[in-house]
Amino acid sequence: MASLRLYGDPALRRKAAPVTRFDDGLRALARDMTAVMHGHAGVGLAANQVGAAQRVIVVDLSGGEREDEAFALVNPRVTARTGSFADEEGCLSFPGLRFPVRRALEARIEAQDLAGNPVVHEARGLLARVLQHEVDHLDGVLFVDRLPWRRRIAMWLKLPGLKRTYAKQKAA
Ligand SMILES: [Zn+2]
Repeated sequence: MASLRLYGDPALRRKAAPVTRFDDGLRALARDMTAVMHGHAGVGLAANQVGAAQRVIVVDLSGGEREDEAFALVNPRVTARTGSFADEEGCLSFPGLRFPVRRALEARIEAQDLAGNPVVHEARGLLARVLQHEVDHLDGVLFVDRLPWRRRIAMWLKLPGLKRTYAKQKAA
C-alpha cells in the first residue's frame, strides 16, 4: 500500500498532470488510494497525497462504512460554484488539525470515471466540500490556504512546528 504524505512533503505542492491512459495502472492507483483513505478513516483523498502526480481523487462519504460508497474521479474540474458555507474541515495530510473553511455550497464537477467515460456530479453540502477540497489538492492547494487571512497568519506561525511534528510521526 502507498504511504500517506503529510504536510511538508513536496508532493503535496506539486500540480498533478492530466490522466491520458485509462489502464490497469490507473485502476491500481485508485484501489491503492481507496485503501489508504479507508486506512485513515478519511472521506476523500487526492493522488498527490500518496505521491502520485496524476489527476485522480477518491471519495467515500461513509468513511468505509458502506461497501459501495467509494468512487474515483479522474481529471475532475469544478465547472460551477454556487453559494457558500463554512464548516469544520480536516485533511489526512494534516493529522489532528480541523478548521472552519468556507466553500461553495453547491459545485458542479465534471470528470471521467476509471474507464474514461464522462461523469458529472451536481454536488451539495458535504460532497461539494469534499470534492472542492480534493480538486484543490490536484493543483497543489491545501486547506490551510483557504483560511480567512487572520487565521492564515496564525497558521503560518504554526506550520514550521507542524512540519517537524509530522516528520517525527513519519519516522516513528
Ligand atoms: Zn486534504
